[in-house]
Amino acid sequence: MADRPIEPRKTVCPYCGVGCGITYDASSESAIGWNGPVNTRREICPKGATAWEIVDHEERLTEPLVRESGELVPTSWETALDRITSSFERIVSESGPDSVGFFASSNCTNEENYVLQKLARAIGTNNVDNCARLCHSSTVAAMRERFGAGAMTNTLEDLREADAYLVAGANPAEQHPIIFRSYLLPAIQNGTTLIHVDPRENDTTRKATHHLPVRPGYDIPLINAAAKVILEEELTDGAFLADRVTGLDAFTAFLEEVDVDENARLAGVEPATLRDAARAYADAERAAIFTGMGMSQHHCGTDNVHALLNLALLTGNVGRRGTGVNPLRGQNNVQGAGDVGALPNVLPGYRDVIDADAREDVAGVWGFEPPDRPGLTEVEMTHEFGESIHGAVIFGENPAVTEPNANRVRDQLDRLDCLVVLDLFLTETAERADVVLPGSAWAEKGGTVTNTDRQVMRMRPNTEPPGEARLDLAVLCDLGQRLTDVSFDDAEPASVFEEIRRVLPQYAGMSYEGIGTGSQRWPFPDGVDEGIGVLHTDQFESGRKTAELRAIDHVDPVDPVSDEELVLTTGRVIQQFNSGALTRRSGTLVRMRGDDVLQIHPDDAERRGIADESTVRVANGRGEVTVEADVTPAIRRGTVFATFHYADPLVNRLTGDTLDPVAKIPEYKHSAVTVSVTPS
Ligand code: SF4
Repeated sequence: MADRPIEPRKTVCPYCGVGCGITYDASSESAIGWNGPVNTRREICPKGATAWEIVDHEERLTEPLVRESGELVPTSWETALDRITSSFERIVSESGPDSVGFFASSNCTNEENYVLQKLARAIGTNNVDNCARLCHSSTVAAMRERFGAGAMTNTLEDLREADAYLVAGANPAEQHPIIFRSYLLPAIQNGTTLIHVDPRENDTTRKATHHLPVRPGYDIPLINAAAKVILEEELTDGAFLADRVTGLDAFTAFLEEVDVDENARLAGVEPATLRDAARAYADAERAAIFTGMGMSQHHCGTDNVHALLNLALLTGNVGRRGTGVNPLRGQNNVQGAGDVGALPNVLPGYRDVIDADAREDVAGVWGFEPPDRPGLTEVEMTHEFGESIHGAVIFGENPAVTEPNANRVRDQLDRLDCLVVLDLFLTETAERADVVLPGSAWAEKGGTVTNTDRQVMRMRPNTEPPGEARLDLAVLCDLGQRLTDVSFDDAEPASVFEEIRRVLPQYAGMSYEGIGTGSQRWPFPDGVDEGIGVLHTDQFESGRKTAELRAIDHVDPVDPVSDEELVLTTGRVIQQFNSGALTRRSGTLVRMRGDDVLQIHPDDAERRGIADESTVRVANGRGEVTVEADVTPAIRRGTVFATFHYADPLVNRLTGDTLDPVAKIPEYKHSAVTVSVTPS
């Protein structure tokens, strides 16, 4: 690190969607918080505090690598880029533009993601996606369809005013720690009710007044039963229903068939507990829903979120401060990567690729019209590797660890003619690449990111990339210059942001300078002074005054579970992040008990002769892992829990790749497995 100049400047944490302000601190030689738009008192969590270790890490890639005789060997940028150019030109000329695919990155900047999706479309394919597909694509699909915007309806600031929080399938105490500690917890300590829907007890549950330990895969029966209680006990908001909601009669008729007790038992919760929770939500003057991957990562994820939207509409908890439906986004720019069009079915601003007017509008700025056929999603692309897709660029993602059914994904990655990985480290995906390009870390780049409550914030370089590593935006622009006929010769974040503003209506009124060290929030139309905080106040973002109530039927989980099997569900812990490509390399965020164990209920453990801290084999038809058992009543009977942060144990060997029919999100939260003592 000694050979790199360092100038501490205000930038944004590279990890979760909270978007805390961090910067380099010379006295501690580590990252510290500054009073950013979200962490106004400079607070940061353990991941943010160790973020500098990644920048300065000895395993950073510092020169390009190409595969020669089966081995990755160092080379020059010119040779690496020539290899990519010739391979991609050959593949596209032989098999057409849809024979290549691009994985954008939801922890890289808006400008980088924008350039990558434009590059793909300039080649002539919509095969571009980002890992928002794996976390909240179902949430975005449901909210966009019913409300007109796939994002938090409210702001962190106004959500302090809620009288009740319904947190469904999320664990913000560990996964979004600064939101929890600085926004939710003070309200809870002041009397706000917390209802937690989660199959296991965790740090969020410990602050809850109501806990609904739902059976994975049975959220819809639970939510429909809550809706029935609200309707039966006349806890609805009559004025809101009359003015802003359609479909009440049909929805009432649908709920007549719902038996609250039966649904509660199906969902694995006590009927009385469910009734109390429904009353607590509906009785509150202002009630806010937070939703996470426990809801969205199912083969019925879109329907799960549709069911939640029904609760908000029935009770008039939309369009006011302290209310709404608020997805807690995972990575620091997962919202922005979608906003700028790194998705196979929409252009920047969520305008459908099949919409001729939308294509014409971007063509006016880009100078070419994007293809009109939706591309493949991330999981669909992996299934086509070696089949219809022969070349792929994977930017800042690690699908060899994060995609479901990982054994299959690894086999298919190996079948590509040309796999290009742009990353910081030789990840489990990069190890399989034909060309590896060394990119830039959070502390080396400028540009913008968009956090979970729609705030666009600026990143600023604190130092330069190490060795021969280059800025990601410059690398992507270079690829654009080489692989397309379109000009990508301006790799300045401010210029790219200006172009984003011109094609993305929600960002039209923003300015790079105007963001400064604060933030600007979308939607920010041209000609107004500031972005809009609470959405859907007088009308929905869909342009309609009303949204419909919708009957949502339960769909059985994909994996049938025999008497001998248990249901595996997955999640995160505070000290690790996603595939662990960054956090696993931290010397401080060492493995802690809970990181990589299998939580199993004492009754399930006893039946199988499993002792606490013993090594167990977890298996199904897709693969197997060995892992340490954590015998604990924190997890409900019949369900086991593991994190997905590790390449060993690689829990995604066990998860299924059946897709939600609308959002194409895979089923991560319900996999049938056998759990047995490992033979000694
Ligand atoms: Fe970074 Fe999220 Fe922690 Fe804030 S809460 S420091 S954004 S990981």
